[in-house]
Amino acid sequence: MRSGLLTGFLLWTFFLNAQPPVHIIPQPVRLQLQDGAFLLDKNVQVQASAAGREVSGIISYFTGAVKQVSGYALPVKAAAVGKSIHFSIGSTEGVGEEGYVLSVTPTRIAIRASKPAGLFYAVQSLLQTLPAVRTNQVIRIPCMEISDYPRFKWRGMMLDVSRHFFSPELVKQFIDLLAAYKMNRFHWHLADGAGWRIEIKKYPKLTGLAAWRVDDWGKAWDWSQVRFNADRNKATYGGYYTQEQIKEIVAYAAARQITVVPEIEMPGHSEAAMAAYPEYSCLPHKHTFNEPGDFYGRDVHPNYCAGNDSAFVFLQNILEEVMALFPSRYIHVGGDEVDKTSWKQCERCQRRMKTEGLKNEEELQSYFIHRMEKFLVAHNRKLIGWDEILEGGLAPQATVMSWRGESGGIKAAQMNHDVVMSPTGPLYFDYYQGDPETEPLAFGGFNTLKRVYSYEPIPAELNSEQAKHVLGAQANLWTEQIASYEHVLYMILPRMPALAEVLWSTKQSRNWKDFNQRLQPHLVGFEQRGLHYSKGNFKVDIKPQVVDGRLLVKLETENEDGTIYYTTDGTDPGTGSLRYENPFEVKGAMTVKAALAINNSMIRGRPAQQAFTLNKATGRPLQYATPYSKYYPANGPSTLVDGIRGTTDAGKQWHAFNGSDMVATVDLGQAATAGSITLGCLQSYGQWIFFPQWVKFEVSADGKQFTELATVSNTVPVADKAPQTKDFTTRFDPRSFRYVRITAKNLGQCPKGHPGEGQAAWLFCDEIVVE
Ligand SMILES: [Zn+2]
Repeated sequence: MRSGLLTGFLLWTFFLNAQPPVHIIPQPVRLQLQDGAFLLDKNVQVQASAAGREVSGIISYFTGAVKQVSGYALPVKAAAVGKSIHFSIGSTEGVGEEGYVLSVTPTRIAIRASKPAGLFYAVQSLLQTLPAVRTNQVIRIPCMEISDYPRFKWRGMMLDVSRHFFSPELVKQFIDLLAAYKMNRFHWHLADGAGWRIEIKKYPKLTGLAAWRVDDWGKAWDWSQVRFNADRNKATYGGYYTQEQIKEIVAYAAARQITVVPEIEMPGHSEAAMAAYPEYSCLPHKHTFNEPGDFYGRDVHPNYCAGNDSAFVFLQNILEEVMALFPSRYIHVGGDEVDKTSWKQCERCQRRMKTEGLKNEEELQSYFIHRMEKFLVAHNRKLIGWDEILEGGLAPQATVMSWRGESGGIKAAQMNHDVVMSPTGPLYFDYYQGDPETEPLAFGGFNTLKRVYSYEPIPAELNSEQAKHVLGAQANLWTEQIASYEHVLYMILPRMPALAEVLWSTKQSRNWKDFNQRLQPHLVGFEQRGLHYSKGNFKVDIKPQVVDGRLLVKLETENEDGTIYYTTDGTDPGTGSLRYENPFEVKGAMTVKAALAINNSMIRGRPAQQAFTLNKATGRPLQYATPYSKYYPANGPSTLVDGIRGTTDAGKQWHAFNGSDMVATVDLGQAATAGSITLGCLQSYGQWIFFPQWVKFEVSADGKQFTELATVSNTVPVADKAPQTKDFTTRFDPRSFRYVRITAKNLGQCPKGHPGEGQAAWLFCDEIVVE
C-alpha cells in the first residue's frame, strides 16, 4: 500500500485507538504499512552492527528519546537477543548518502544506511511513530517497510539573533526541532546592525559594546529605539555567544546531522561593528555610546569602507576566527541592502573605484565581495551571499541565496552558480500566517501554511542542467518583532514541517490534504510538549459575495479536512452550531462567527468574526467614474456595498483612489424612500491617506438628472496623525429616489510638512449606506 492511501479512514481509526497509522513528516519516498506491530517494552535490546563514535552517538540519541516517552532504558548490546532494534551501516541501493531503509516486524526493527546521516533520519521517522510525551500505555510501532531519501541537499532554516538575542539553550532547542523534521542547515545570522553576537577574541569591543543596547524587552525592535550602551552596569538588552558556547552548539548540531552556516554581514548592515570600530567605516565619527538616539542615522554609517585596506584585514581576521569555529564549507557574508551613500561621499572609496577601474558603487560592492571570496577560497571555503551579490558582477565561485523573489536565483543558476532559494514569498517566516487581526504583530506580508507547502524550489525557467544548481531552499526568521522563544516557535510551527516536506519528499507525492491529515497528530504533540504553534491555517475567512442584488456570506479555509461551524447571534461556534455548506444570505444586521472542527473537535482559539449590516444600497450595482486602485481590491467591485465596514487597517475592506476623486453611482433597483446617505472614509497620515475635502451627495429618479442634497465638508485637520475612520453623512426629510451619486473630493497632494509633501494623496472609502 502506498502511503498516499493514508486516508481519512486511517486517520479515523487512529482516533479510535486501533492500529495506529504512521504520520511521518516529511512523507517518506516509499512507505508500505503491514499488519501487526512491534510492541516496545523494557525487554527490547538495541544492537549496533556498525562501529564509530557517530553511530553510537545516534544510538544514544535514540535510546534517550525512547526513554523520555516510555521510561525504558533500552540496553545496547553487541549481539542482541530476542525482540530487538538493529542499526547497521552497509550498502543500501538507491537511497543515496542521506537515505535509509527501515523495516519493522513484530519482533525486529532493522535500520540500514550507507552513512550515519541515514541512520539518524531513520531514527527521526521511527520517533514520529512514538507518543510525543511520556506515557505508561503500550507503545505500538506499526509494521512497515520504508526506503527513503531527500530530494534536496540544502534544507535550511535561518534564525536572526541580532534583532533579538536567544540563549545558547534556546538555539539548541531550535536545532532539535529542525532535526526532528530532517532539516540539515542552520543558518545563523550572527551579526547585523542591531547587535553583534559572536565573540571575536581579536576585537573585544564587538561584543563588549555592540552586543548590548538599551531598549524594551518584549517590544518590537525598531531602529529608532536602538541606543548602544557602553556602560555594562546599566540595564541593557543583548548578549552574545562565547567561542566555547559556539563550539558546543556546532557539535550539538553536527550530532543531529545539521551544518551550522554562520553569517557575518558585510559590507552593509554593519552598524553594530561600525559603532564599535568606527575606524573601519567610511566616515569615522565621534561615537558616544550613552547618548540616546545617537546610534542610527546620524553618525554611524552602516558600511565597511571599501577603500580602506585595514577594513578588509579587520574582516579577514574576524573570518579566521569564524572559520576556526565553524567547519561549514559555506560562509555567509550577507551582502544585502547595501546603502551606497557613504561610499559616494568617501574619498577613499572613490579613489578605490578609480584605481580599480570601477564604473559605479555597484561595481565597488562587487569588488568587495570578490576580494572576500578570494580570501575564503584560499582557506578552502565557499562564499554564499544574498542575491544582491549579483550586482556589479558575481564573484567567480559564489553561491547565491535568492530572497528578493526567485529572479536572482534563476539568473545565478543560468550562469552555472549554485543557488539556495529563500524568496520572501513564501519563505519569510517573519510574515503573517493568518489573519493579522488574530495574529501577533508580524513584519508584514502573508505566507500561509498552504503557500509554504505549495512552494516549488525549482523554477520553471530553468532547464534540467541549470536546475541542478538549485541546492535546495530555506526559510528565514528575522526577529524584529520576535522577542521571545515562544514567538519563534509560533512562527516556525507548523510552517517549518511543511517546508521540510517540500525539500525532502518527492514532488509527485506532495499532497496538501494528505499533509494536513498527517499534521494533526504533530499538532497534538506540540500541545502536549508545550510548543507554541500557529493555528492560522485553520482560520476561517468570512467573505461577502454579492449575487443578483443579494448579499451572501462565503466561508473558506485553507484546511480541506475540517468542517466549518458558524453562528449569526454573536455566540462562539461549536459542533452543535450551524454547519457550513453553501454561501448564506444576510437578511439583516448580524455578526458571523465561524471556526473549524477537525474530527469533530473544534480548533481552539478565537473564532473568525465579521459584522454585516444591511441597508438600501447593500448588494446593489455600483459604478465608478474612475476605477479604484488595483492595489486595494478589498472584496472586489462591490466593496462599497458589501455590508462590511472597514477599520483602521487600510489593507482590508477599503477601496483606494490615488490623487483622484471618488465618484460612485449606485442603482437601488427601484424607487426607494430614505432619509440619510453616508460615505465611510479613512485617514491615516503615516500611510498618506487623507479624508476627502468634502463629500457631495446627489440623488436621481432616472440616473440622468441628479439633484444635489448636500455637500459635507471635512472637519478633521489634515495634520491629525491618528489613524481614524469617519462617516460623512447627510440627513434629510424622507424622499424617494432610485439613484445615488456620491463625489468625494481627494485632498490631491500630501500637505505641507508631510513626508510625501506635493505627491499624490490617497483617498480611502469603505461603504455607502442609504437608510
Ligand atoms: Zn569608504
